[in-house]
Amino acid sequence: MSYVFPPAPVVSVPVVGSGERFPVHRIYCVGRNYEEHAKEMGFTGREPPFFFLKPADAIVVVNAGEAGQLPYPSLTANLHHEIELVVAIGKGGKNIQATDAFAHIYGYAVGLDMTRRDLQNDMKKQGRPWCIGKGFDASAPIGPITPAAQAGDVANAPIWLQVNGADRQRSTVTQLIWNIAETIEHLSAAWELQPGDLIYTGTPEGVGAVVRGDTLEGGVDGLTPLRLTVV
Ligand code: MN
Repeated sequence: MSYVFPPAPVVSVPVVGSGERFPVHRIYCVGRNYEEHAKEMGFTGREPPFFFLKPADAIVVVNAGEAGQLPYPSLTANLHHEIELVVAIGKGGKNIQATDAFAHIYGYAVGLDMTRRDLQNDMKKQGRPWCIGKGFDASAPIGPITPAAQAGDVANAPIWLQVNGADRQRSTVTQLIWNIAETIEHLSAAWELQPGDLIYTGTPEGVGAVVRGDTLEGGVDGLTPLRLTVV
């Protein structure tokens, strides 16, 4: 096989305790999946789950113990942080039942669903797609993936984000409206999941803006924390 130009490299994420990397297929995101965040966005939190996607190459890998760099994107004056538990799919499938969902999970990571909130809000008002607000370059920072067996009890873990050392977001994964298994059930009814898919499961309350020079540090207890500076 020859190509008219070199194909883009495979996007991949390091795996904790392994020299092998997790190759990324798609990035699915769950909208408004914590009640207190749904309320701060002006909704009740009582709605079926809904999803959007980011391109796989929106990933920014942040290695353990390193401070990553997050380029401030164009066209926005209101770049928001959303700290999220990320589920990494290792075994694909469609119409996966919640009771079978955990067999499809390879591991977990800490991610940020960075959002150009001003553009997202404009698109919402006009009933247009969210892509420009959510799916921009470098909009999906992620730390190393911990295999499920070593990840501890992520479903009950605290989730938190600090900006310049001060708390912005702090909740627990138990507060998810649609839990990990239910999310996989709903998502796999709409798309056939593939190995390499990542699911950003939603953010708790406390989202807010960051500017160049800010340092973000976030985590889900039991997983490698994520640290980056906006440049
Ligand atoms: Mn989000």
